[in-house]
Amino acid sequence: MLQEDHQNANMNKIISIINKAIKKCPQYEQSQNYLLESRKIVLFNEGLREQILKCQDEIRELQKEMTQPSKKLRRKANEISKKYRCSNCEKKYGSEASLNLHCKIKHAFSETDSKTQIDHSFQI
Ligand SMILES: [Zn+2]
Repeated sequence: MLQEDHQNANMNKIISIINKAIKKCPQYEQSQNYLLESRKIVLFNEGLREQILKCQDEIRELQKEMTQPSKKLRRKANEISKKYRCSNCEKKYGSEASLNLHCKIKHAFSETDSKTQIDHSFQI
């Protein structure tokens, strides 16, 4: 019996809330398809939720990009001091690895330390 009283009290509370809301609401319109309108709102909310999630992902990506940039900034060709000169042609390179790669491709052999000439005049 006590539980029933409690349920009734809750029901009365809900009804009074609904009654207050109805007083504030515009009149019920017979021509309006309220079921369809509420479905539209549900779908609209769903779309909004997806947009929020997408924005949150973008923010996370941007924050990651700010703390650890994925792309290393490359120096321009004229900013690199080209101290490694090829002993087989006039080409100069900024690193031994680049020179070795050049020798492999152009002269069909791997550059060894003995063939690497360091041109200090090209250092910045
Ligand atoms: Zn060469």
